[in-house]
Order: sequence, then structure tokens, then C-alpha cells
Amino acid sequence: MYWDKDIETLNGGKLAELQLSRLQETLRRAAASPFYGERLQQARLAAENLTSLEDFRRLPLTTKDELRSRGREMLTLPLTEMVRLHASSGTTGQATVIYYTRQDIATWADLVARSMYMAGLRPADVFQNMMGYGLFTGGLGFHYGAERLGALTIPAGAGNSSRQLQLMQQFGTSAMHIIPSYALYLLNTFAQKGLDPRELPLRIAFLGAEPHSEDMRRRIEAAYGLKAYNSYGLSEMNGPGVAFECPEQNGMHVWEDSYLLEVLDPQTLEPAPPGQVGELVFTNLTRQGMPLLRYRTRDLASYDPEPCPCGRGFRRISRIQGRTDDMVIVKGVNIFPLQIDKVLMAMPEVGTHYLVELTRQDFNDVMLVKVEVQQSFFREDLKYLNQLRKRITEALKSELLVTPLVELVEPNTLPRSEGKVQRLSDKRQ
Ligand code: ADP
Ligand code: ZN
Repeated sequence: MYWDKDIETLNGGKLAELQLSRLQETLRRAAASPFYGERLQQARLAAENLTSLEDFRRLPLTTKDELRSRGREMLTLPLTEMVRLHASSGTTGQATVIYYTRQDIATWADLVARSMYMAGLRPADVFQNMMGYGLFTGGLGFHYGAERLGALTIPAGAGNSSRQLQLMQQFGTSAMHIIPSYALYLLNTFAQKGLDPRELPLRIAFLGAEPHSEDMRRRIEAAYGLKAYNSYGLSEMNGPGVAFECPEQNGMHVWEDSYLLEVLDPQTLEPAPPGQVGELVFTNLTRQGMPLLRYRTRDLASYDPEPCPCGRGFRRISRIQGRTDDMVIVKGVNIFPLQIDKVLMAMPEVGTHYLVELTRQDFNDVMLVKVEVQQSFFREDLKYLNQLRKRITEALKSELLVTPLVELVEPNTLPRSEGKVQRLSDKRQ
């Protein structure tokens, strides 16, 4: 049940001890990079005088902008030692680049293998990786992890829905890695072909790369007849395999032997107490070529320090509630896109896709929510559709405290994007 029992069951003092020694090791390495060399000196921090994890908080946070403009100065070894680079998809601006040594690739693959093993993947499984291969870490990250674990790995890549189905049927895919919005979308292809995904040997799905609600997970589980596990990571911390759900499906264990976790109030930058949503800040504890120290992810989540029934000692984080930079202010109210997802996915009449558009009319914010209706609920009955529209409007209003305009559309008519879904467009500028 454990990939690495000694490590995974560490907790309390033993874990802190390991973290401290790995942090010292990391500081020693980071000091060789121009960027951190200078920064550590300014903070008067060195491996030798670091006696507690609290000391480390004297070091200023590393921001995405710094990574973007000075990333190359964070390398601890010459570029010739690096064997790969990945760049973030640049959801919010210019891409950031991360370099890996051979050892870094191996360490990362092992963390991903550990994650998948925890969720139940075994060497006898057939694993279809439906994430984009390339600069994005989701594809290659899982690929190396699954091979390390020993599962038969199908590098299907993103998109091409008919082909995905064909591969599943031909090779008896039992586990898949898929973006949640695409998992819902793919159901349409199954329906078109008159196939029921529940009749396939699929038993596990790894869902990652974008925020999704608990209801969305349950929908995917029911439609495919499998267990779906939340997978979190970001290229700055290697990629997938930073935090992952165990069979309890109740929060994601952060691999704290490799990533030092802090949850900070984004305003005060003070540590947030358990259960309170804050910004995730990570420090690499096992990366050689480009360790990042106190990196501000902009991702928002809370943590739970309670022991988990699965026996793992690592703390769990909640679902990612959004990013500090994807919050929008509508009519003076703060709104995260995930709130909209939560409301819509809980309603069985809502189909597999929706889009939100923000505009300004006569100095007023207008929020338009276009919602696809589920095929089995769709009918040319104006009275029925009107009532449904009203119910959706009410449900959104009570969650968001803002009244949106809701427009119902036929199933499969809203435009889709490949890769991470961008559901909200702000056209108010
Ligand atoms: P970016 O999207 O910033 O270009 P990445 O491809 O590295 O860069 O994606 C990492 C980001 O994706 C994370 O910082 C987080 O915002 C989001 N993400 C990854 N996994 C999840 C998940 N399971 N739930 C919610 N968000 C996720
Ligand atoms: Zn657990």
C-alpha cells in the first residue's frame, strides 16, 4: 500500500528533522547560484547557521516575476549539467522556464510513481496518459512516473477524442490521466458512438491541472464507473506529484519530504492557521539543478494537520480554491471561478460545459453565464427552460451574492479549448 513506507509514514519530529537536513543541503546548493547566493547572504542565512525551520522564514519569498526575469540565475550548476527544460503554459503571462538535471528527472519520476501507487495504480495496469506532451509538465511528468512504477503506459497525448476511445478499447485501459473538463467533454464522444464508458475496464482517473469541484469529480466517477483522484503540481516545483489524494479522497497529501510547505495569508504573509485558505508557498528539498526557495505559487488552499486514516504523516491540503490572480471583482464582490463550478456541477440539468463573460454596461458590471443543458434534460419547452434558467440564476446568486444573467444553450454548442479550460473571460477593459 506504500511505495516508500519509511518515508511516507514519517511524521512530527522525525519529519522535521529530515526536512531540516534536506533544507541545509538545499541552501548549500542554492548558495552556488547567483540569485540565491546574493539573497542568502543578504538574509545572513547559510546552511551552517540554519538551526530550525523557523529561521528559514527570514528569507524573502521568491515571486513568479523574479523567476521569469532572473530564472537562469537560479541555476546551481552549469547549463551543460541540465538534461531537460519545461515551461509553464503561461496561463497568466509569459512562460517561466525550469531546468532539470538527470537526477532531478529521476527524483521527480519517483514522486509521481509514489503518488500513483498511493491511489492504487499497479504494474499490471494499462495507463493512458491524455495530457499534452511537450513543454507542459503534465504529459512527461506522469509518463516517467508510470514507467517508473511499471505500468504499461500509452502516451496518447491531449485531444483527438475518437482516437482516445479507440485506444481505450483496443488496449483495455484501466487508468487514465485527464484534465477534468476534458473528461466531461469526452463523454459526448462516447455518447455519439453509442458506447458506455462504464463497460470499459477503467478503474482509476487522475484529475489535475485545473481547479474543479467535488461535484465535478463525482460526476466523472459516476459517468465512467471509476475512482478519481485529485493531482496537484506546478512546473516550478517539477510538475505533477507535489500533492496527491490518497484512497480516503479527503485532501491531498503534500510530499513534505521533497517540498517544504507554507500556507500564508496573502495579505499579511503570516502563516495561516489550519483550515484557513491561504497562498501555498513551496521550497524544493530534493532538487539539484534549480531549487526554488519560498516560491509563491499564487495558488490558494487550506491545510489539515490531522493524521489521515491511510497512515501517511504528511499534511493534506484542500482542493485548490483558485489563484490569487484569477479572482475577479464583480460589482465590488470578490468571486473565484471555482464558486461558479461548484454551483453548476451540483445541478443534474447542467451539461458538460459553461462559459462566463464579464462586460461593463453604463458603468455597471454584467456577468453573463452561458450554460449547456444536459442532453437528457434538454427539450424545446420554453416554460420549462425558463424555470430552469431562473433556478440556476437563484443558485448562483446565493453563492456569489451577485445576480448573473444566465443563458441556456443546447448541449455541445459552446466553443472548447484543448488543454486547460479557460471558462471566464473578462472583457471589461
Ligand atoms: P501555468 O498553468 O501557470 O502555466 P503549470 O502548467 O505549471 O503552469 O500549471 C500549474 C498550475 O495549475 C498550478 O499552479 C495550479 O494553479 C493549477 N493546477 C494544477 N493542478 C491542479 C489541481 N489539481 N487543482 C487545481 N489547480 C491545479
Ligand atoms: Zn491519506
